[in-house]
Amino acid sequence: MIDPAALTRDAAALVSKDGWVRVSNAAFDTLASTGRAAGLTPLEITRSAELSEAVRRALEGTARRLDLALGRQSYLVHLAPLLRGEVLVLLRDVTEARRAEATRRDFVANASHELRTPIAAIRAAAETLLSGAIEDPAAARSFLEIVSRHAERLARLTQDLLDLSRIESRQWELALAPVHAAPIARQVVELLAGGAREKGLALGSTVPDGAVVKADARALEQVLVNLVENAVKYTAQGSVTISAEREDGGWVLSVADTGPGIERHHLARIFERFYRVDAGRSREQGGTGLGLAIVKHLVKAMGGDVGVESGAAGSRFWVRLPAA
Ligand code: ADP
Repeated sequence: MIDPAALTRDAAALVSKDGWVRVSNAAFDTLASTGRAAGLTPLEITRSAELSEAVRRALEGTARRLDLALGRQSYLVHLAPLLRGEVLVLLRDVTEARRAEATRRDFVANASHELRTPIAAIRAAAETLLSGAIEDPAAARSFLEIVSRHAERLARLTQDLLDLSRIESRQWELALAPVHAAPIARQVVELLAGGAREKGLALGSTVPDGAVVKADARALEQVLVNLVENAVKYTAQGSVTISAEREDGGWVLSVADTGPGIERHHLARIFERFYRVDAGRSREQGGTGLGLAIVKHLVKAMGGDVGVESGAAGSRFWVRLPAA
């Protein structure tokens, strides 16, 4: 099952009957510290006892496939005995694919973990109701409130997960066109004014009417909603402001708050899925840990850039979009 077209990409070598590499391609040579594999044994080249043993067995006539880790690289190795008692060794670098698999596994594990918490809470409340609490109106009410709160959380989580997967699989088709940012910012302010008012926060937009960006209007609104929702959620007092500044070739939209700020060592990871500074606090506030990941994906899909600056005076999340 050797794909001939892959021969130039993969590291390939012929090992002779006595266990030395007889010929090798350039990719295989790079594995040797001397830059030349011919005349060395697979053990000398890779320092892998596992590969060396597999080559020995292949020289005895057994074809093999194995997964091999060399330093930080992962390889899929094919060993094929040839007619003259030689062995063809093929190493395919699968580091990227393995990394992507690991990311996917982590994501599924994280998502399942997030879903399990509200499901467990709903199940426990329902069982308590069924086993008698339903007869006591005050208790019944508080258990139903638990059910309702966690059902809402489940709904938000599944919505965010669906959004992310639609963006990543490009099913959320973005229609990029000139978009006036000011009316969208005003809509977002209107939408979230109630929550800000309840906390006594001043929420407003100073985006100038001239700010026209190349974007998808609905995606831009979603981006601003997520950023402003966060700013309102994590800010105890002061203000949340959307603004825009003209820059070479585009506009930088910002959502600035007077909240607690985010410690520097979290900043690099804050846009990752499920990454939170304080998981308990985020869940308490109804957060899913996916809001910023959705922001990043949408902005990337619109050909823009995102970032954050944060300090004792608050945080400023910014989105750079090309001018229309
Ligand atoms: P969440 O649903 O937890 O808010 P996000 O992806 O939207 O998820 O945000 C990730 C984390 O970034 C949050 O849990 C919070 O710790 C931090 N964060 C986001 N926005 C702000 C902000 N404006 N001020 C302080 N911390 C923030």
